[in-house]
Amino acid sequence: MLLLRQLPEGLTQVRMATTWLGRPLMFCHAYLVDGLLVDCGHPLVAPEFEQWAEGADIGKAVITHHHEDHAGNAAVLNRMGITPSAHPLAASWLAAPPRLLFYERVIWGQPPPAAVKPLGEQVATPRYLFRVLHTPGHTGDHVALLEESRGWLFSGDLFLGDRLLYLRREEDARQILSSLLAVLQYDFDTVFCAHRGRVPQGRKLLARKYEFLHEKWQEACELSRQGKSDREITRRLLGREGLMTWATAWDLSKRQLVRSLLSEK
Ligand SMILES: [Zn+2]
Repeated sequence: MLLLRQLPEGLTQVRMATTWLGRPLMFCHAYLVDGLLVDCGHPLVAPEFEQWAEGADIGKAVITHHHEDHAGNAAVLNRMGITPSAHPLAASWLAAPPRLLFYERVIWGQPPPAAVKPLGEQVATPRYLFRVLHTPGHTGDHVALLEESRGWLFSGDLFLGDRLLYLRREEDARQILSSLLAVLQYDFDTVFCAHRGRVPQGRKLLARKYEFLHEKWQEACELSRQGKSDREITRRLLGREGLMTWATAWDLSKRQLVRSLLSEK
């Protein structure tokens, strides 16, 4: 499924989802802003994406990180003569994507190899100038794009929601905290999230996410000093594991969030 939504800012939101019995499993969003495509969706929507992209006015593309729901159609763009830009760490992963986990293959699909070029410090379009902010934590190669004059932040997977309850095995919760803090140094208002869509007052909600996670970190450290186990700390701070944990075979879990907050680095 691929749906288009015109946003009040003059952007196009490209909404993509794999469907099951006609219903979307989970949307991921790309944005087309002044000829710049930010992210490109997942491999299971490649035919629809290709059909849309061929008729769209795409001058250049940026990928916020290597995950298959953001970079999954980079090979389609390559066929159209477009080499997207991404953080230098993304290139080797995208050139030879490892086999994904089962749930990822079902929801997003296995991406084919694709070529990207390294991002600089900024990306210019005819009307806008985007500052590239390296925001690791969700992945090491994660970036966000800031358009300061308009107060826009294209946040990839940095936002997702104002409460973080689950973490993937490869994620680093304390790096996410640092990246949130780094982004909050800037002035912006609207966040364009790859899953939540357009978030008015997004900066306020990003600040709330930082405060929530920072508080959990402090509480987890205190409980750990008292000798509580990771399991006990998780139960107290985040509650029991939920459907997400089981559906992803523990790739995402609440306990992983606690472990990452408490990890020695
Ligand atoms: Zn991601």
